[in-house]
Amino acid sequence: MRVLFHIDYLIEIASAPQDDPLLSRCREKAVEGWVLPAYIPLLYQHLLQTMDDKGARASIRQVLSFLTLYPMTGMDIQEALISESTDFASSLTAGAAEAFNIDTVVTLNPQKFSKYEVKAVTPEEFLTLLTSGKPHLRRVPMLDMTASYHECLDHIEHEMFKVIRSSRFILGSTVQDLETKIANYCKADFAVGVSSGTDALLISLLALGIGEGDEVITTPFTFFATYGAIVRAGARPVFADIDSTTFNISFEKIEQAVTDKTKAILPVHLYGQCADMDPILELAKRKGIAVIEDAAQAIGAEYKNRKAGSLGDAGCFSFYPTKNLGGFGDAGMVTVSSAELYEKLKVLRVHGSQTRYIHDEVGGNFRLDALQAAILSARFDFLETWTEKRRTNADNYRRLFEQAGLTGLVKLPVESSGRHVYHQFVIRVWESKRNELKHFLEERGVSSEIYYPVPLHLQKCVMGSGYKMGDFPHAEKAAGETLALPISHEVTTDQLEYVVENIKNFFS
Ligand SMILES: *Cc1c(COP(=O)(O)O)cnc(C)c1O
Repeated sequence: MRVLFHIDYLIEIASAPQDDPLLSRCREKAVEGWVLPAYIPLLYQHLLQTMDDKGARASIRQVLSFLTLYPMTGMDIQEALISESTDFASSLTAGAAEAFNIDTVVTLNPQKFSKYEVKAVTPEEFLTLLTSGKPHLRRVPMLDMTASYHECLDHIEHEMFKVIRSSRFILGSTVQDLETKIANYCKADFAVGVSSGTDALLISLLALGIGEGDEVITTPFTFFATYGAIVRAGARPVFADIDSTTFNISFEKIEQAVTDKTKAILPVHLYGQCADMDPILELAKRKGIAVIEDAAQAIGAEYKNRKAGSLGDAGCFSFYPTKNLGGFGDAGMVTVSSAELYEKLKVLRVHGSQTRYIHDEVGGNFRLDALQAAILSARFDFLETWTEKRRTNADNYRRLFEQAGLTGLVKLPVESSGRHVYHQFVIRVWESKRNELKHFLEERGVSSEIYYPVPLHLQKCVMGSGYKMGDFPHAEKAAGETLALPISHEVTTDQLEYVVENIKNFFS
């Protein structure tokens, strides 16, 4: 729950913040507490009436160790100045609350907020709310991207402003720093920042010389980009069905699909778990074909203690906002360990140009913005903690499903060959009850998603290539039975319990 503390309340507690029951709930992380930076100098002036500079600073530091500074801009102040709904300070608070999905404002004078949509309560009311039925805590979104701003926004802002002040907006050292971080993290020698995960796939295919007349084997059960990138490169996608327990591409089916036109295999590490790579890599080596990992959902995942992105010739990552490491827009990365491929990627990224305005080949604009790189660098420092939280959530789900006696009715994800990073926690619901369950959960405030409802070979723009219903039965069955539950690092154990409780209710 996200709460904004109004200045009147902060003034009341600032001289002894350690004793305040509400702040202690923030410290325990039961509540996500925010404060407007504009109030800090006010608070300081107030504290100076009863203490010296050193004491006032110490008090404020203590308050801020429990709360986060809201990212305020000059515009917020301008808008509050012209608002006539109530006094300036209340307008400022209400405006921030509305702009940032704040659940509640804590203030000594809730009546001042009556003209706004935001809910305003007194500290006493808020404490009661926290300990009582808390009905609005019973909302479990798949992802609440703003929820983790709480932890890292200062950090992100700092990095963003460095870029703005430097005016180096495209590539440059900010992008290089991120490339180094990601390459090291993925245990690859090099990384090339690009404009999206889709472009990471496309540029990798281009760099490996794959195009017209070539076949690329991939899975029919993935996000469309995997397929689209192959077509955009000019090659022909050839599907191989998935393994029914991991949902990843099946090696046996790849073997059957190989022809003398096969130039690459493009396995996807679906939901955050690596495909069974050893046999694929062995086959590729034997046949002299490339392996490109679609690791868009799998940053930090491991296969037999090797990192996703370091297994094939190229590893493709997406930093789309909802991915495990998400930016504030589109971004992607290719990891490689061949110096030759690395150089090729860097040239293709800037329209095939090695020397400015001299073009030896046709590449594209696959550049990564420095602002995105700055945001991602700041968020990267939290990635391991967030990933471990996802894994803990997965363990808790398993325990809760077991305790609820549900393991005979739904099938839980199987960890097959190393660290699963749970981009998604996907259960399988038998007897075509999946859609009904999704609806049932939705009505009770629990979001869930279907990844993916239509396998690629049955998409309108793909069926022209001769595929039909029945060609990939495991992918088709998975499309009808899978359901992804909320698993992101922001999801609390309390919420997991609520999800499983409702699934239990659905089946009883
Ligand atoms: C997200 C995703 C992509 C595409 O990444 P974008 O950054 O959205 O272009 C590709 N493949 C898979 C499996 C994905 O999940």
